[in-house]
Amino acid sequence: MRQLLLPVIIAALFFSSCSIDKKKPSFSLIDEDEKKITALLNRMSLEEKVGQTCQITLDAILQKDESNKLVEPHRIDLKKLDEAINKYKVGSILNVSNHTFTLEKWNGIIKTIQEASAKSSTGIPIIYGVDAIHGATYIQKSTLFPQEIGLAASWDTSMAREMGRITAYETRASGVPWNFSPVLDLGRKPIWSRFFETLGEDVYLAKTLGAKIVDGYQGGAAIDKNHVAACLKHYVGYGFPKTGRDRTPALIPERTMLEYHLPPFEESIKNGALTVMINSGEVNGIPGHANKHLLTDILKSEWGFAGFAVSDWEDFINLHKVAQTDSTIKDAIATAINAGVDMSMVPNSPQYKTYCDEFINLVNEGGVDQERLDDAVRRILRVKYRLDLFENPLTKKEDYPSFASKEHVEKAYLSAAESITLLKNENGVLPAKTMSKVMVIGPTANSLNCLNGAWTHTWQGIDPQYNNTENPTIYEAIKNSSLSCDLYKGSKMEMINGDEFDLPSADLALAVINAKDYDYAVVCVGELPSTERPGDIYALDLAKEQQEIVKSLSKTGVKIILVLVEGRPKIISEIEPLADAIIQCYLPGDQGGTALADIIFGKINPSGKLPYTYPRNSGVIMHYDHKQSELINGNTWKNDFFNPQYKFGFGLSYTDYEYSNLVIDKSSYSLSDEINISVDIKNIGERAGKEVVQLYARDHFATISPALRRLVRYNKVALNPGEIKTVSFKISTEELGFYNADNIWINEPGKHSFFVESLEASFSLK
Ligand code: BGC
Repeated sequence: MRQLLLPVIIAALFFSSCSIDKKKPSFSLIDEDEKKITALLNRMSLEEKVGQTCQITLDAILQKDESNKLVEPHRIDLKKLDEAINKYKVGSILNVSNHTFTLEKWNGIIKTIQEASAKSSTGIPIIYGVDAIHGATYIQKSTLFPQEIGLAASWDTSMAREMGRITAYETRASGVPWNFSPVLDLGRKPIWSRFFETLGEDVYLAKTLGAKIVDGYQGGAAIDKNHVAACLKHYVGYGFPKTGRDRTPALIPERTMLEYHLPPFEESIKNGALTVMINSGEVNGIPGHANKHLLTDILKSEWGFAGFAVSDWEDFINLHKVAQTDSTIKDAIATAINAGVDMSMVPNSPQYKTYCDEFINLVNEGGVDQERLDDAVRRILRVKYRLDLFENPLTKKEDYPSFASKEHVEKAYLSAAESITLLKNENGVLPAKTMSKVMVIGPTANSLNCLNGAWTHTWQGIDPQYNNTENPTIYEAIKNSSLSCDLYKGSKMEMINGDEFDLPSADLALAVINAKDYDYAVVCVGELPSTERPGDIYALDLAKEQQEIVKSLSKTGVKIILVLVEGRPKIISEIEPLADAIIQCYLPGDQGGTALADIIFGKINPSGKLPYTYPRNSGVIMHYDHKQSELINGNTWKNDFFNPQYKFGFGLSYTDYEYSNLVIDKSSYSLSDEINISVDIKNIGERAGKEVVQLYARDHFATISPALRRLVRYNKVALNPGEIKTVSFKISTEELGFYNADNIWINEPGKHSFFVESLEASFSLK
């Protein structure tokens, strides 16, 4: 009997990652690694296993003075490090404190940490994570790209991959192997403080671009020393809070969850993403960290996710303190771990000690099964092996000669240039002549912080002292490109008690008087950087002090180029008619000033397209994929209610394009057929340019009221003047289905159409 049982027990231990053996794992497991993990697990004590699931913040092991302030320059407190690693056996550390380190400093920090963990009882390396969300944002002098909302406006999958690749390389140069990115929450709540961190409102755009970012980060199956583990966040529904305020409840019907919020995650999981971070808020009353259905049933069992899920900041504690779904912290730990979270970003001291102690008690008392703990640890170790941290826990900056190289900066410049979106260009006022005299005015005109947004050098991105000042602000870049250029403030933005206050500036009157001396006034408006709860705002309206700049200058006759530097679309409907040209920069990063100047002066032909619907009124937030029932206008009794400031997918160029011959290969299809679609596009202007060919689909009648349009394919193409290209797409009929009343993906027979611009081609599905 003993002999018979043994292989069974071994097999059970080997595959203790129970939830993935039901389905093919999301990335192929390496037998060798799995064996090593099993051997390690067999040797590890309960304390060591629990420690692996514990993530602390760097601050918890830094030296502090008597008043509990971090000592400058930041230094590791070896006693605290020893306690964390040898007493509590922690498996992970995150983040950087309140500023950016040099590459050398990073290498030193990681070395101290990894050397300590190598000497620990298990010798298991630490996995260090950071928010390098638009470039290696916490390393001085790194290459900074547009924030995700800008990247999405490029509609360029190769650009998304390049951003991922370069960010991974520069992050790994510091010794950090794990990036808390990309954000795959949908940007369907423009007022939400983290709108800029998303890839926009559309599920297909977010899904396709997100998967490419992951590809860039991880570089394929083996994560070599130039790549990092991606962390998809914030699984799932975090971006859709009912109030629009960060970390407030969302209500998402199962069907909407399946059709909109889950697919970007599923796509990247299938693409091999190694880790996932959990939604800090709640959906339908269930906190993200307590949602067993989403975490275990869908993510791990259905999709076979073989990596690990980390909590967001303090979110085990928050189940007790904020969501109040657990009456003690101990219960909260049990809830989150049993729901399927594998690692807890506790992350402060002494809270992490309580976490470890209580988790140990829970296992001893049966509140968490040993099997679940082993599953969590196996997943964490699997990622550590995948990152080769056991053999090579350190990197040296010398091995990364391309850090902040010209090539990297050029890529960041190109992605800014391809994302910036021309929204208005009355009478072809742009491009401007380089011999122009330009007034640059407005509170975002001379600020690298505003170009970069939050998560840059510091959490809120507002401290200027670590900026890469060799990169020009908008004003400096325009000055470099024009005959003459002067800077005016126009208005001021100040952060007071966590809110942005806009104040008038006395020099606006002078600007108005001097306006006659200039050919153009480039009015740079927007918002101060912010994110998460500090980024909550009360209204989407652009500050009236900023609007006043446009209103005042519009009376002078100077040509107004309105430049938006904003993480979310601020309402501009009053001043829009007063501007001759309008350019959306989003948060374009360090190269944004140069890229914008090159667009204004015509060196670059703009090709960015809005990845969201720009609202005209803050009370009307509609998306491009709205339904017929949302169109009825009670004033006109026509179906004309959808009247945004600018439509999703919109963006002008300095040339014009003409679409023709939208052709599909048959007039009727059966289920499981593939549809071949083609369309001709011609550059009918005089400049070379790039255009995003956008293919939308419509199911005319369906038992769940259908959206009028859904983006199903896109392709960015370059065209010389006069050039015609035929762009082809393939799509399976299945893809055109929807979730029915039973939440099952189906196709119903009937009329369908494809649209490219104003062209339509219809077919019937049998
Ligand atoms: C944010 C995450 C981030 C984490 C670590 C949290 O507050 O919600 O997006 O990755 O902090 O910095």
